[in-house]
Amino acid sequence: MINKVNYLLKKSGLSITPLRKEVLAFLLENEVSSLDDIKKNIKEFDRVTLYRTIKVLIKFKIIKELSFENKKFLSLNRNINKSSDSFEQSVYFYCMYCNNLTFLNNKIISFDIAPDYEVHQSESIISGKCNLCN
Ligand SMILES: [Zn+2]
Repeated sequence: MINKVNYLLKKSGLSITPLRKEVLAFLLENEVSSLDDIKKNIKEFDRVTLYRTIKVLIKFKIIKELSFENKKFLSLNRNINKSSDSFEQSVYFYCMYCNNLTFLNNKIISFDIAPDYEVHQSESIISGKCNLCN
């Protein structure tokens, strides 16, 4: 896990800091997380530093921000280093009862897109009732 985190940071040209490592390790483990859960789980750092770190990771496209029903979620950016003519779309399930977002690992859809189109973001969100609320 730590090797993968270091690799992601190095590949993007970012220096490895304890907080960057911790945010990425948390997202690797959880696939997708709400901003609130990240704040709850990463306590040793003050909020300003945490927000700054998240912004940098988004700017360097290592992670991405998803907004749904006014709630913010963060996920690893799976399209990193993918050319835009063939990319994978991540599918998430949003539970309207507990407001949790789950990454559907087995439901990555691959698309072909004309080369004169440039893909900036690619995800689908399916909403409904999750297994825990059902
Ligand atoms: Zn639920």
